Amino acid sequence: MSFENLGLVPTLLSAVSKAGFTTPTSVQAAAVPKALEGHDLMVSAQTGSGKTAAFMLPALNRIAQMPANAGTGVQVLVLTPTRELAMQVADATKIYGAHIKDLRTAVVVGGMPYGAQLKALSRRVDVLVATPGRLIDHLQARRVNLSTVHTLVLDEADRMLDMGFIEDIETIVASTPADRQTLLFSATLDGSIARLAGKMMREPLRIEV
Ligand code: AMP
Repeated sequence: MSFENLGLVPTLLSAVSKAGFTTPTSVQAAAVPKALEGHDLMVSAQTGSGKTAAFMLPALNRIAQMPANAGTGVQVLVLTPTRELAMQVADATKIYGAHIKDLRTAVVVGGMPYGAQLKALSRRVDVLVATPGRLIDHLQARRVNLSTVHTLVLDEADRMLDMGFIEDIETIVASTPADRQTLLFSATLDGSIARLAGKMMREPLRIEV
């Protein structure tokens, strides 16, 4: 399996190649083609498995295929349990999206001053990476609009539930369009994760690698 066989646009293939990746990891090989087909996915994946590219490449693929003037709202929303993970996802987005013209990524996380986040949210944002609590603050103050999100990612969903973010997640999900694509990544897919998925995903495919 090579990246060329996954169905990604050339702008992403060149960025992946520049990042030094030659072969997709097993989670990438399994998840990317199914995500590109438009399915909702529940993926069991550990840190270090290459899960970030497994969700970000298909999400960016959709952005890259949008007409140049297709609107200005947030297209991809990634929820993460921690500030550190949000920063890592944003850094990875910049690497994978390096050849997408004028891609804008913003990070909204707790424990950081509001100033820079307010400034970022006042401009165009294509990819928003956020922790649930701080995103709720911005949503309630109407500083962010999620009605244009086409891809919602829950990264490390089990950790977000463990941290008590379930209500915040439900509020955030309800602020995104019903016809979005939802990609859920978690160390485990049982119990509370399956219940969450049942509420917010449409016929999700389960991928366990
Ligand atoms: P992640 O599990 O997404 O945190 O990724 C773990 C690490 O693997 C990161 O440093 C990535 O840059 C790297 N990585 C992701 N996909 C690949 C790949 N296909 N080939 C080589 N390294 C990769």
